[in-house]
Amino acid sequence: MNAQLTQNVSKFLSSPVQHFIGGQFKPGAGGATARVLNPSDGSTLATVAMGGAAEIDEAVAAAWKAYPAWSALSPNERAVKLHRFAEQLEKYAADLALIESLDVGKAITAAEGFDVPFGIECLRYFADLSAHAHYDVPLAIKNIEARTHSAPYGVCGYVFPWNFPFTLLLWGIAPALAAGNTVVVKPSEVTPLSSVFAARLAAEAGIPDGVINLVIGEGPSAGAALASHRKIKRMSFTGSPDVGKKIGEVCGRNLVPCKLELGGKGAAVVFDDLDVEATAKKLAGAITLNTGQVCCTATRWLVHEKIYDELVNKAVAALKETKIGAGTDRETQMGPLVSETQRRRVLRYLEDGVRQGAEVILPGGNAVPSGHENGFYVQPSLLAGSPENVCCREEIFGPSAFLLKFKDENDAVDLVNRLDYGLANSVWSSDLKRAARVAEKMVAGNSWINAHNVFAYGLPYGGINLSGFGGGVNSPQTFFDYLRPQTIARPL
Ligand code: NAD
Repeated sequence: MNAQLTQNVSKFLSSPVQHFIGGQFKPGAGGATARVLNPSDGSTLATVAMGGAAEIDEAVAAAWKAYPAWSALSPNERAVKLHRFAEQLEKYAADLALIESLDVGKAITAAEGFDVPFGIECLRYFADLSAHAHYDVPLAIKNIEARTHSAPYGVCGYVFPWNFPFTLLLWGIAPALAAGNTVVVKPSEVTPLSSVFAARLAAEAGIPDGVINLVIGEGPSAGAALASHRKIKRMSFTGSPDVGKKIGEVCGRNLVPCKLELGGKGAAVVFDDLDVEATAKKLAGAITLNTGQVCCTATRWLVHEKIYDELVNKAVAALKETKIGAGTDRETQMGPLVSETQRRRVLRYLEDGVRQGAEVILPGGNAVPSGHENGFYVQPSLLAGSPENVCCREEIFGPSAFLLKFKDENDAVDLVNRLDYGLANSVWSSDLKRAARVAEKMVAGNSWINAHNVFAYGLPYGGINLSGFGGGVNSPQTFFDYLRPQTIARPL
């Protein structure tokens, strides 16, 4: 059964989707527009305004104009407004999930079950944290009356990717807003729709004009203008390591603190002492989740040699059963990739991997669900072979995993730590002491045990090395990252 287009969503998609600056929807200075495509069938979903440096300038000015009043509210008063915003998002949760599914191509059941509710919960988490935080901490120093005072930075800039637009928007801006900052957001030009819809709901919920501003545009124009803007006091970027390095460079040059949440090549280390079929199904689920377009998911499967063949057979069976279809089809377990560009990237990686000698366990390739011939579908794929193979070393960002065999614990840890990525890995074993040991030895921001992709508010999430920099998201520390510490001291 297909999720029906609601009146709200069809009205939203049929009107021009514009920048949101100082509480107003605007077409932008040059009036440029672009088409946003529906990845499930290649049709035009909406026409969106496209901005650049001029719109970013205007948005930063609007955010500064709103800053004194927003930052002067008590934490409690801001938290009340953020809770009202969360309630408004919840009221329109079905519309938001539908927009996310249409725009990204993701399974509607996932958008309804995870993306939208988990995003909304983030607002509530940081609102509550901010109401109970200590902003002034007295310091016990001989002969000096002193305290550490925490104050917001001012205007914070955000550049987001296309894979979880709604959830990542809230992971990014919720702690900053709760701490009293105002924000300028550049969503991905590929999937900007749920962010624009959410901005409208923020206004309806009473978030004051200029507190949240949004400019749609290309990375090298609007994104670069935002990251290099001299009036931005904090920057946050989520996306690929290549662009992350550029943002890091420019922020370094301007001495603007920045958070970088980047790509990964997550490993799952599977020992021989657990239920092989259940584990194979979970790993298959990890690469079909969001059609494999998940930064932290398990894309290198390191399997103990004793259960390797059995796990491969069970995983192939599970992947062959995966129902591929349009995002809005309620039966769909795996939707299309987000774009034709992404489909070409995934297929090119598989070709290169095979050219470099990878063994093909499950070939992948184009998928063509009937009636959706123009969508950007691929089949799940499994390759195996040398750890030097390009498909084992680089982030493909599609429903694909590379398998390696290991003999013992040290062997496995060595294979995991060969790459410069450091986002998330998992270890699977019923021996919890061994699992904890391996979890500690795998060098990354996150090590999960007997599960992959584990998220909760209060559970810090971030990457190191090529996968990230600057403290991560979703924890109390994230909230304090958006407050600048100031020492106030008086000699006695
Ligand atoms: P991308 O780096 O190509 O683009 C991300 C954003 O950066 C987009 O909004 C784009 O317009 C903008 N951009 C591009 N060039 C720019 C420039 N020169 N200056 C400023 N902005 C620029 O990434 P993508 O293809 O949208 O997303 C996929 C990547 O995101 C993957 O590597 C994935 O692992 C990563 N990701 C990481 C996390 C995390 O939490 N660590 C979460 C989601 C996605």
